[in-house]
Amino acid sequence: MNLRRARLLRQGRTGPGPVLYWMHRDHRAHDNWALLFAAGLAVELNRPLVAVHCLDPTTTAPQAGQLRFLLNGLLETACDLDGKGIPVAWLAGDAPGEVDRLEKRLDAAALVTDFDPLRYKRRWMEQSAATPGCPLHEVDARNVVPCFVASDKAEYMARTLRPKIHRLLPEFLEDFPPLPPNLRPWPGTAPGLAPPELKQTVDALGNAPLWPGFAPGETAAHAALDDFLGNRLTGYAVKRNDPGLEGQSGLSPWLHFGMLSAQQVALAVMRTRAPAQDKEAFLEELIVRRELADNFCLHRPEYDSVTAFPDWARRTLEKHADDPRPYTYTFQDLEQARTHDPAWNAAQRELTLSGKMHGYMRMYWGKKILEWTPSAGEALAAAIALNDRYSLDGCDPNGYAGIAWSIGGVHDRPWVERPVFGQIRYMNFAGLTRKFDVAAYVEKVRRMERGEELSLRRPKGK
Ligand code: FAD
Repeated sequence: MNLRRARLLRQGRTGPGPVLYWMHRDHRAHDNWALLFAAGLAVELNRPLVAVHCLDPTTTAPQAGQLRFLLNGLLETACDLDGKGIPVAWLAGDAPGEVDRLEKRLDAAALVTDFDPLRYKRRWMEQSAATPGCPLHEVDARNVVPCFVASDKAEYMARTLRPKIHRLLPEFLEDFPPLPPNLRPWPGTAPGLAPPELKQTVDALGNAPLWPGFAPGETAAHAALDDFLGNRLTGYAVKRNDPGLEGQSGLSPWLHFGMLSAQQVALAVMRTRAPAQDKEAFLEELIVRRELADNFCLHRPEYDSVTAFPDWARRTLEKHADDPRPYTYTFQDLEQARTHDPAWNAAQRELTLSGKMHGYMRMYWGKKILEWTPSAGEALAAAIALNDRYSLDGCDPNGYAGIAWSIGGVHDRPWVERPVFGQIRYMNFAGLTRKFDVAAYVEKVRRMERGEELSLRRPKGK
């Protein structure tokens, strides 16, 4: 593998124990550069490889449905790894502290972990790097071009990141090798005891909603990918912008939880005979837009605050801060889809019913929250809270970047000035009706509510 995917966060003493792979973003046994890097080290040092997951419910996934999706997927991955001679140690609590305790107990040879730009994960890495131990390597297994290789600064927009990514794709868009066959197996049973908190958490999640349209785990992720490649990639460039159609891939929940590798998706798309315009449009979203979101969160650690907005956007929003709002809604009004706008209400209902809102409506949804709340800061907080609470793919850099784009002009340019928005790009209901059949979309969501349409994406028990 290309070793520029990894960086050393801590030097240290190579103990006589196993190599540890601390999995906290890329929850998969296949197509995972961090796992492959750890396996390579284990073979080189002739040590067993042990995977570690630490459940930290306050930070890992805030809602029961998301946590249940994660844990059910992890159980499949753990089974798979176990079959390959890589046991999984389940920990719970303060992640860097717990992983450090396990590392010391096993006198590990090396610790390998996933890269993640979110603030709390950066703090985990700082804490781990500052604690003496074995060498600690961080591997970017999420992005095709590692985030820390693609650019060393916050990119202004897709136009500035795109050439950097495209230049590096020939170096990084390579096929995945299999795991080395000569891994030394771990002698005995899994080294971490499943803690009682884990069992309690799994039991308590028994009634949490699971959306049958999004079954957790790597097998389901690959089935969804095959379905997209076979049935919807052709036509993607045109159909993806019509929320009444199933024109998008629907892969974001699995990508978000790291149950599917974006690189493997890109390779699979490139191998198809779909029209070039559809492949290009899809790869632009999957690679450039998605990697731009990681770049934003890494280089703008205040990604969920108005201070992350570009200067022009902050100035224009301040200038219009006291403009009268045509409508104002409370958080509860928004949450319960009680606005005057049928398209917005349909989008919000689609989100709470199915665990995912159509991508085109996400833009409109965010912009209307700006228009209907007393300030940009409150709009940002409300949009993030709703997205992270109800979206199966929430709590993701894509969400923070997408919301900052909608409300704060991030990765965008100034547009014609108008009330409330200032120079932030505006969207309105009339614009939606020019793009697609809004009535058909609203009716589709009504049918979802009645269980007559997309029942597969309806959470159990709702
Ligand atoms: P497809 O169109 O099939 O795209 C394939 C993949 O490309 C997606 O799964 C995603 O990983 C990536 N992608 C597509 N569009 C974007 C984009 N604009 N930015 C970054 N990556 C993209 N995406 C999330 O994954 N989680 C979120 O919480 C999230 N919240 C958003 C909130 C707002 C207000 C906005 C405007 C966008 C948000 N997005 C979010 C980005 C985008 O809308 C979703 O990634 C997309 O709708 C996911 O559906 P899909 O997998 O069917 O997309």
